[in-house]
Amino acid sequence: MEMPTPKGDDGEWVIIKDDLQEWIKELSSMLQEKGIPSRIALTPGCSAGKCGSTYLLLVTKENARIALENIEEYYMVLHPEIRESQEWVAQGRCPACGHHVGVDARECSDCGLMLIREEE
Ligand SMILES: [Zn+2]
Repeated sequence: MEMPTPKGDDGEWVIIKDDLQEWIKELSSMLQEKGIPSRIALTPGCSAGKCGSTYLLLVTKENARIALENIEEYYMVLHPEIRESQEWVAQGRCPACGHHVGVDARECSDCGLMLIREEE
């Protein structure tokens, strides 16, 4: 499988994050505010409806570390007490294994965990 590493004018682009579209967009604009250029790409090999709307966040290799630091910081600001499993559920992921199951899933297709969601 070929990895999506498009060559840009600024050098090599690397994937630093894969997540739901809205979160990737949020991180992308956050990085832009910090002066770090980023790109958004679809997960390779992900056909529609197969693995939800998983997107990739890419930055140039030289910015990868600073971008990750900024993302870490961003998480901390949003969630001072990081509880990863809650994070994952909010992102449509399985709290046990982190597999993207989508917000409507009742069961994790990866580890089989039953996902009980509170209906309004
Ligand atoms: Zn799972």
